[in-house]
Amino acid sequence: MPTSRAGRTGRTPATRGETFAVVDPATGEAFAEAPAQQPDELDAVVGRAHEAWLSWRSDPLVRSKSLLAAAGAVEAAGADLAPLLTREQGKPLAESYAEVARTAARLRWFAEAAPEPQKITDGRPVRSEVRWRPLGPVAAIVPWNFPLQLASAKFAPALAAGNTVVLKPSPYTPLATRLLGSVLSTALPEGVLTVVTGHEPLGARLASHPGIRHVTFTGSIPTGRAVARGAAASLARVTLELGGNDAAILLDDVDVERITERLFWAAFRNCGQVCMAVKRVYAPDRLCSQVVEALAERARAVVVGAGLDPGSQLGPVNNASQLARVESRTAQALAGGARAAAGGHRLDRPGYFFAPTVLADVPPSAAVVTEEQFGPVLPVLPYRSLDQAVEAANDTGFGLGGSVWGTDLDRAEAVAGRLECGTAWINHHAELSLAQPFAGIKESGVGVAGGPWGLYGNLRPFVVHRPEEA
Ligand code: NAD
Repeated sequence: MPTSRAGRTGRTPATRGETFAVVDPATGEAFAEAPAQQPDELDAVVGRAHEAWLSWRSDPLVRSKSLLAAAGAVEAAGADLAPLLTREQGKPLAESYAEVARTAARLRWFAEAAPEPQKITDGRPVRSEVRWRPLGPVAAIVPWNFPLQLASAKFAPALAAGNTVVLKPSPYTPLATRLLGSVLSTALPEGVLTVVTGHEPLGARLASHPGIRHVTFTGSIPTGRAVARGAAASLARVTLELGGNDAAILLDDVDVERITERLFWAAFRNCGQVCMAVKRVYAPDRLCSQVVEALAERARAVVVGAGLDPGSQLGPVNNASQLARVESRTAQALAGGARAAAGGHRLDRPGYFFAPTVLADVPPSAAVVTEEQFGPVLPVLPYRSLDQAVEAANDTGFGLGGSVWGTDLDRAEAVAGRLECGTAWINHHAELSLAQPFAGIKESGVGVAGGPWGLYGNLRPFVVHRPEEA
């Protein structure tokens, strides 16, 4: 049992013994327990993170070696981490292995990353140098869709920068993260990374804890707002990676057959529970029914099943309330005149399964278009003019990503340049490099993660200013 393994290492704080149930979304049944830590336990946890920081901040070489060792430990634990992740999250096992691999790769990438001091010259007889200093204990709060990968996007740069981390996973997916904490503790000094699990108000208390100097949060927009309000109490730095409602615009020269597979998975991977999934498709009027049918045919062919079944290509939705949200948004669209070209309903079996759904004739005002569905449902909307498509794509409070699909790449890139979002892709969607920045605009986020930007997001400038001569 992973929780007991975490307990043996002594790196996950002892709790008063309360636990909460963790549900397997493929069955809807509880299959394990996780410690229900209480907000008042955070004083001790953050205190230990501060103690550990006092030495962790001092030697970049030690940090680099530890992070490389941590990457190796994560890889070596893949066969334990991946099935556990699938069990609590639902995704197909191969995707869990990919998530573990990405977690290790990110640790390795940041093990090699170091901030550069900068000399400032402005013509005056003064020598100024900017040196980069860590912030202190960092609170990392993550959602349930990519528990390990998103956690690593926070702790790898934070640790590389010389901070320590208190990591809080979603109560829907605490187990693989606890096991990850245990694995990492074999390579990191005591107190450098601590995993805490439990229900609210644990996260709220962590975000507002006076000993935390940076709150890095991934999750929904309303919770992001609450986190920012909480962190305001201690004026801790805040990085927020929030929701998305990414549009994919298909141009009139698009090769529908050629792009269908890629476009489909850009929307449906991880059961659509991806912040930067394609959540709306805009197709030219004359191609719209072809696009709908191509995507629907693909959706009907997908093998839906438990993530641990080797044949499954799509798992269940992660939890009951998410399933209810997906179901009600779909039902609302259908009641408003939309047509389900594929799916449109939950599957008649135990667990939180929803049929991969492609919707046509959707009213543009339907919630499945204007809000994030975060599930295996994709609306396809027709457009008459390109200006109209760009306007519709941008007509949202979200601003995470977007994509443009066509044969003339220069034209597609010109259209992509008109999208109001943090990342615009051409002929694919949601692919990220570890080296690139990731930042949503509008309500999709505050601050920058990824690459060197992610590292500097965990550092503060310290300026030494001296005259040329005494
Ligand atoms: P959520 O906002 O409900 O929860 C996210 C995390 O915050 C969880 O760990 C949760 O326990 C915790 N939390 C809940 N209330 C809190 C509070 N008051 N203070 C502090 N922490 C609190 O989100 P979710 O449903 O777990 O995840 C889905 C959302 O995450 C979607 O909106 C999705 O778009 C977003 N997301 C964004 C990105 C990104 O990088 N932009 C990536 C993945 C997911």
